[in-house]
Amino acid sequence: MKTKYNALEFIIHRGSHQIGGNCVELATPDARILIDCGLPLDYDEQDPEIQVKIHEDAKGWLEHCDAIFLSHYHGDHYGLLSDAPKGTKVYTSKETAELMRISGVFGENLTEHLDVQVMDDIIQVKDFKVTAYPVDHSAYGACAFHFEVCGKSILYSGDIRLHGKKGILYKNLPQNVDYLFLEGTNIGRGARQKTEEDMKDEFVERFENNNDCVHLVWCSTQNIDRIVALYRACKDTHRALCVDPFAAYVLELANSTHNTIPTAKNHSNLLIYYPWFLTDKMKKKDENLIYGPYVKKKKLDTNLLKTHPSKYVLLFRPSLLYYAKTYLNDVKVCLTNSIWKEYWNQDKDDINRMKAWLDEEPELRRKLPDIHTSGHADVASLQEIVRHVNPKCIIPIHSEHSDSFGSIFPDNTVMEVSDEIQYSLSSKKKSS
Ligand SMILES: [Zn+2]
Ligand SMILES: [Zn+2]
Repeated sequence: MKTKYNALEFIIHRGSHQIGGNCVELATPDARILIDCGLPLDYDEQDPEIQVKIHEDAKGWLEHCDAIFLSHYHGDHYGLLSDAPKGTKVYTSKETAELMRISGVFGENLTEHLDVQVMDDIIQVKDFKVTAYPVDHSAYGACAFHFEVCGKSILYSGDIRLHGKKGILYKNLPQNVDYLFLEGTNIGRGARQKTEEDMKDEFVERFENNNDCVHLVWCSTQNIDRIVALYRACKDTHRALCVDPFAAYVLELANSTHNTIPTAKNHSNLLIYYPWFLTDKMKKKDENLIYGPYVKKKKLDTNLLKTHPSKYVLLFRPSLLYYAKTYLNDVKVCLTNSIWKEYWNQDKDDINRMKAWLDEEPELRRKLPDIHTSGHADVASLQEIVRHVNPKCIIPIHSEHSDSFGSIFPDNTVMEVSDEIQYSLSSKKKSS
């Protein structure tokens, strides 16, 4: 049912006290927008009736909404957009829009169902004036949003960090805003985060210490910083980085806006390997996905994995497991985990397939290191963001420790919030 609004108000549908599954509603008497509409990270572990309820709730939030602003292409931010009515307007960055399109290879193409608009300028949706600001995160094309509405200035950080390659982008965020929705994933997790440069050094050490094997590195194809760190480590250790055609396409895309990002076309030690199942799927969807990044001489000769294992690193993920089983059967292999290790605890098909494989390969499991750093700001970085933005009031989101924001930001007002409560942004108090 459509909620009535008397002034500028907001509801956090989900995310005030949990990581992921973000969905925030901002509304005036004339307009209603959503920021992100993500799937909870523990969705797969829920009973079927709870899963049904998650979709039913989302359908209610998504109904009659003037626009959705999508901060980045991670499932915990976009995962429920498929429940939006056909033709709903979704505003996002150019990079995220393209990822939405090409990811249609693996499931529903959201760009066919939704009216996806690229935010290359300021957007006006009824009384909301909205600007996107690129931020550093482990997802390609992530952005924060700034809303100017009813005389108020509201910044939504999205997922953000300062320790990646583009950490400095936070300095472009608008200052002296009235409200800052700030993510706090790493609050309560202590340590300062390592940098992506540290990742490169750790990969070098790993490859040097295990020089006689083919390395498989499990890493997200969207985590461009990590792929660049891996590529540089390969270069330093005289190995070629081999990526599947989907990753090759994402690198081509990233290179079109940042020409230092390696691609098979431009960089000598970057090769492409073609797992038939994935290749076939991509070809059926859009031949350009395969032939765009294709370069004849850059196709990995799989025989060389056997004869020269010390020359190759494969960017890997569980969906490519059958490739490893086929071509690396008699080859010494080292596996490295370069994703958030809590993914291993999720009850997902691909994780279970990986676990089953490792049960057959106990040596790999025993020596499975993590070379990973978070896609989210550590506490010191969050404090730096707040120093820069200087908000009148902080609204916690994407955190299991929202109650700790007050002690982390003692000089700022922090709003106490809960999911599904309607708050006024005029009085900073709960609406009646
Ligand atoms: Zn997230
Ligand atoms: Zn994210």
